[in-house]
Amino acid sequence: MAGLNIHRNDTVEVITGADAGKRGRVLRVFPDQGKILVEHVRVVKKTISSKSGQNTRGGIAEQESPLNVSNVMLVCASCGKPTRVGYKVEGDSKTRVCKKCGTALPTKSK
Ligand SMILES: [Zn+2]
Repeated sequence: MAGLNIHRNDTVEVITGADAGKRGRVLRVFPDQGKILVEHVRVVKKTISSKSGQNTRGGIAEQESPLNVSNVMLVCASCGKPTRVGYKVEGDSKTRVCKKCGTALPTKSK
């Protein structure tokens, strides 16, 4: 079963790079590339050119760019600390648990 330890809507903390120490919500995951998109992290400015025939203005937009999942750690909602993800297997179900405090980390599927 392929997949990342980090899921959409998780809160993560960046542990390396220019954005180290920043926390944000996971907006998207790219399991094939091992990358995630995190709110307010790795923000790049993109120049938008105005398109003829459309009413959009040109300008500069800020947009997150994906970063490698190994550059972040999951922030436990219970103890509030960046943690490694453990797994607890019960029958067919696999639950993510915080390795620091042992709290089960719910998978939000909204
Ligand atoms: Zn915890």
